[in-house]
Order: sequence, then C-alpha cells, then structure tokens
Amino acid sequence: MLLQDQYDEDKRICLYEGEDPERFLEAVIPPTFGNSLFLYPTLDELGQAVADERKSYVYWRGTNPTVEIAEKKLAALERGERCKCFASGAAAISAALHNSLQSGDHILCVSHVYQQTMDLITYLQKFGITHSVVPSVDIADIASAIQPGTKVIYVESPTDLQLRLVDLQGVADLAKSRGIRTIIDNTWATPLFQKPLLYGFDIVVHSASKYLGGHSDLVGGAVITSAAVMKELFEKEYLLYGGIMAPAVASLLLRGLRTLPLRMKAHEENALQVARFLSSHGAVAQVQYPGLPSHPDYELGLRQLHGYSGLLTFTLQEESYEAVQQVIDKLQVFRIGLSYGSFESLALSPNYGYNEEQLRQQGFSPGLIRLAVGLEPVQELIADLEQALQ
Ligand SMILES: *Cc1c(COP(=O)(O)O)cnc(C)c1O
Repeated sequence: MLLQDQYDEDKRICLYEGEDPERFLEAVIPPTFGNSLFLYPTLDELGQAVADERKSYVYWRGTNPTVEIAEKKLAALERGERCKCFASGAAAISAALHNSLQSGDHILCVSHVYQQTMDLITYLQKFGITHSVVPSVDIADIASAIQPGTKVIYVESPTDLQLRLVDLQGVADLAKSRGIRTIIDNTWATPLFQKPLLYGFDIVVHSASKYLGGHSDLVGGAVITSAAVMKELFEKEYLLYGGIMAPAVASLLLRGLRTLPLRMKAHEENALQVARFLSSHGAVAQVQYPGLPSHPDYELGLRQLHGYSGLLTFTLQEESYEAVQQVIDKLQVFRIGLSYGSFESLALSPNYGYNEEQLRQQGFSPGLIRLAVGLEPVQELIADLEQALQ
C-alpha cells in the first residue's frame, strides 16, 4: 500500500537529490558533461585522482558529473548506499551476476524471469556456473532447491508474464541464513512501488529503459547496492567491462525521473481500470495483475508493494495464437511493439519469441496477451480493447 511519507520523500528525491546548482553556475538543471576527460594541474594530482576514480572525475568511463546525479537519485530512491548506471538493463544485470559468481558456483533463479536474463544465466555455463530454476514462487520450494554451491538467488517480483509475487522478506531471510547473495530485478515496480533493499536484498538491478526513463527515448540500466559491494563492482565489472551510461542518456534519464512519481500513479490508475474491465469480459479467461483482489498474491502485494505499474497480462478464453493475433492486430490505441514503461500503450504476444510448445512448457497459454498500459485517456483504452475483443 502507498506510504504517503515515503512517496513524498521520493518526490523530493526525484526532483532535487544529488543536484547542487552552486557547482554549475546556479543552472536550474545540471548541464550535460559531454567531455571525455578532465584536466589536472600536475601529474601528481592526476595520479591521486586515478587512484580513486569512483570519487574523482578523470575519464568518461569512470565517474561523470551528469551520470553521477542520476546515480544519487536512484540510490536514494532504493534507500541504498551506492548506484552505478549502465548502458542498458542487460549490462547492469550481467555486471551484477559477474560480480557475484565465479566458476563452480550455482545460481538459483526464481520462477519466470525476463527471458534475456534467463538466456544470460544459461550462457554463464560457459564459465562453469550452473543454475536451476524454481518452478514456483513458494519459499519452501526455493529453500529446498538450494544446493551446497548456491551463491546467488535471483528474483524478479512480479515474475515475467505470470506476474506472481515472491515473498521478498522470506527470500532475503532464507538467503542470509545460508550466506547466499540476493539479486532482484525491480524494473516492473520501480523504486517508487517496491524497495527490496529494505527487506535485506543485496543488489537491485533496473532497466532504466522502461518506467525510469519513461519516454521511449533512452536505453539504460542501473545497479544499486551497498558501498562495500559497489567498491568492487565499480573497479571490475564497471570499469573493466565498460558498459557505461553516456552523459546525454543520463540527462534524459534525469528528466524522466523528475516526473516518475506522477507517471507511476497515472499508469497505476489506468492499468487498474483496464484490468477490472478485462476481468469482467466474457472473452477473457484470466487477468494477471497484482492490483486485482482476485490475484493469488494480492495479500502479499498489499504488504510489500506500494503501488502497481502499467504492465499486465491476460489470457483469452480461446487459447490460440490465431485468436491472439486477431485481437492484437485489431487494436488501434494500443500499438504493437516491444518494451513498456513509456507514455504509449502497447500490446504483445510472447508467442512471437517462443513457439507454442515452449510457451506451454513454461506454463503459459498460447492465448496470453501482454499489455503495457500507457497514459492515454483510460476510456479510449477500454473502448479499444472492447472493439478488438468482439
Ligand atoms: C527490459 C528489461 C530488461 C532488459 O533491459 P534493457 O534496458 O532492455 O537491456 C531486464 N529486465 C526487465 C524486467 C526488463 O523489463
């Protein structure tokens, strides 16, 4: 449930955290530092700066004043100590995983995570890192899937496409008692609606390409964690792998972040109404959205979510790809495209990336449709769905 004090604090963070106009001639928004390097008066002073690149401005690949402001906002929003921004969500996730694992380790992945994250986790086999996937979101199932070599429990909550919720406090407590690191992808909820570090999660990762940016004009990612973990991650996975966020992208991200609290409330309002409409429609078998009281994890959501974003899925009574195609192709306001989290409403079938057999194996119906509910007038969205479902 929304905590008003926390929401107000987040509004302040989105607008002003990390900004220090005095440093920048009292410019009301920070300038975009597009310079690739900074000059030093003496060789010795440059040497001292290089020795701690995290705190000094030396070269573009390390710390940039514009990117740094976005990092301060995201760290504060997650109530974490440190953040680094990356070139994409995928770059942030791979940095977090590579930092946390070495050859011989095992990673436990909770139920359905973002498909490319699953592909990356599978790819890590090349480096001698094994994985298993818990087929449910049950704490007991997660506990019994832990192996002696398990070093990371990786979570997405809500889970991809099924939108089931994972008990974050339960997972964090379980992992702590076994000395296992926990990583969560918080892209769906954004830090506005879920703060996993407060439950004891070790690392939060984000795709900033979705709600954080919010305008379909940037690709970026972020890792938020403790100062101790970030010290190492900065030296290795950030500086060495080099998948950094460009300053011009950080400027766009800063602009997106300023309105994040307002946009998230608007996405939530629209998505709740769309979800209610769909769940009462005869052609719809099921709606997966944690904001509906009929959702299997609704009670858990009331405890650990402070709101619901705009991404939901629903299943047609007619479980076929042909039916899905007919509905999606008839939509006019909802457009067809990948991604979500921006002003525009989008519709998608996961079937475009899997075949029907794979979908069923993963527990999905071929009649599944994913909607990214945007910021259009909600009556137009509902009318659009109504005509397409006829
Ligand atoms: C989009 C997305 C990613 C990947 O992020 P990119 O910015 O596209 O690299 C990872 N996780 C989730 C949940 C996403 O939605």
